[in-house]
Amino acid sequence: MCKNPATDPTATANRAVLDLLNFGDRQDFEDASRGFVATFEEDVITGAEGKIVFDLKRYAFMQGAAPDTVNPSLWRQGQLNAIHGLFTIHPRIHQIRNADISNMTLITGDTGWIVIDPLLTVETARASLALANRHLGERPVVAVIYTHSHADHFGGVRGVVDQADVAAGKVPIIAPDGFMEYAISENVLAGNAMNRRAQYQFGMGLDAGPRGHAGCGLGPAAGAGSISLIPPTDTVYRTGEARIVDGVEIEFQMANGSEAPSEFMFYFPQFRALCASEVTTHNMHNILTPRGAEIRNTLGWAKYIDESIALFAERTDLIFASHHWPQWGTERIRGFLTRQRDLYRFIHDETLRLANHGHTIHEIPDMLELPEGLRHDFACRGYYGTLKHNIKAVYQFYLGWWDGNPSTYDCLPPAESATRLVRAMGGADAVLAEGQRAYDEGDYRWAAEILNKLVFADPQNAAALKLQADTLEQMGYQAEAGTWRNIFLLGAQELREGIRPSTVNTSNPDVLFNMGVGMALDFLGVKFNAAKVPGDFTVLLNFSDSGQSHLLAAQNGVLANTTYHDGTADLVLTLTEAAFFQLLGQIAGVEDLIGQGILSMQGDATKLGALFGALDAFDPNFAIVTP
Ligand SMILES: [Zn+2]
Repeated sequence: MCKNPATDPTATANRAVLDLLNFGDRQDFEDASRGFVATFEEDVITGAEGKIVFDLKRYAFMQGAAPDTVNPSLWRQGQLNAIHGLFTIHPRIHQIRNADISNMTLITGDTGWIVIDPLLTVETARASLALANRHLGERPVVAVIYTHSHADHFGGVRGVVDQADVAAGKVPIIAPDGFMEYAISENVLAGNAMNRRAQYQFGMGLDAGPRGHAGCGLGPAAGAGSISLIPPTDTVYRTGEARIVDGVEIEFQMANGSEAPSEFMFYFPQFRALCASEVTTHNMHNILTPRGAEIRNTLGWAKYIDESIALFAERTDLIFASHHWPQWGTERIRGFLTRQRDLYRFIHDETLRLANHGHTIHEIPDMLELPEGLRHDFACRGYYGTLKHNIKAVYQFYLGWWDGNPSTYDCLPPAESATRLVRAMGGADAVLAEGQRAYDEGDYRWAAEILNKLVFADPQNAAALKLQADTLEQMGYQAEAGTWRNIFLLGAQELREGIRPSTVNTSNPDVLFNMGVGMALDFLGVKFNAAKVPGDFTVLLNFSDSGQSHLLAAQNGVLANTTYHDGTADLVLTLTEAAFFQLLGQIAGVEDLIGQGILSMQGDATKLGALFGALDAFDPNFAIVTP
């Protein structure tokens, strides 16, 4: 694929960043290298059949000064996120960093390791634990802590513990209230759409390089391995709760509804160390993540950080988190937490101040800049979240997607609007000329807007696809956020060469088997396509192990599910929950399950075919930059 150099406007914009920030301040580099023990002997972490799960040398190109195709601020962040290996950050606390998108932290207990956040994938977690055992001495894992309900903090758990040891009570897994519900629900009902959008957010399918992937801001890249989940055995509900784990005291602070719907932070009084989880990291985080998720509560987020300052700042010498590098020194940590608190407070208060003046979701992002006290702090810069999209999120949290203007309340769908607009502007050639003029002047936001109309009016227009790709590419080159760079560059790539199917394995049997019958039935409702069934019918599921029963009713355009019924249906299935999930995951067929004696049917067996035949399969590679 042909990738363009930076245009003059892009090179100029990127050079201007050098004057904006204090690149002479090397404190972060010192912190990110402090306590280095060793790194992996191999350049890659591999999985089954030698498949590369994580390439530790992928960002080795990020040396020296930034090329003009990468925003220098993002280049700096990428350099920091490329410093990988095992680090001892306190005599009893060790981290394996940048061998996945997130960090794994090991606490030395009296007899073994307490693992905080076993990364995203089984392969990277296993390799990280092995690295620590090799250099720090072999120890058993005696406990696991999941800081929050996002997959990059639990997905590798089967790489560090056996489920049998957890079930036998030998290895507790500690997690915040609501963990399982949110770990699963975020990934199921809207899962396919979220996975596709995540390809954009994380730039999956982009090659790394000065004109390609330059990290994700929050970390280098997500491991492309297998994701697992073992349910927690010990739930923390309230701030102030404490545990003693393998001789190590831990005090918890709840942070549900901040960076994740289920999240806590915790403090180690013996070590004067605070684990900030993902509430405070070395960037402005997402209020609404581009992949999609529930909007986060910005004011609540600021208040949690304020509470952390009150509870822990005075007695903290070391702060570490689930991403990025630690910091040392009570005064520095207090300053960092104070600026992080004020950052989220600023995004919240300023958005609403301007909204209350009548400005809208489309206007406020261009009206605000970070204030003087925050602008020069690298940890407040938008490498992952950005001020612009976070402002939109706060607006949406309080006021919704509508800007309040009646003219925008019932807009035409994109392709229909585009067709009319192209016609009104005098046809495709006139729109293309305007797009070219804007591109030549470096007016890329306008070029992208107008060319998008042309692409949606006529996706066969090769000149429009090419110029739109060139435009998005320059926007990517200028972006300070890793997420934005990925979004723009993947858009450019897909316009030029079509969609590269993601190599990331998102199917996750642990999620399937842990989602519970209720959520699974709701998901069937999402997949149900009424146009595919000839008429109404009912299926009753009697679960022989749980004693629960659920009636599925295909009617009124939905697949309703209810536990309220009279025990009759067109088809009655008696089965175990395990059989139900095997059927659902297409791990076993009906005949197999009948043969195993864990499923039986009474009534009209054709209704089972009707039910499964009515479920849509979702295309994981649906179109985004074209209609
Ligand atoms: Zn994370």
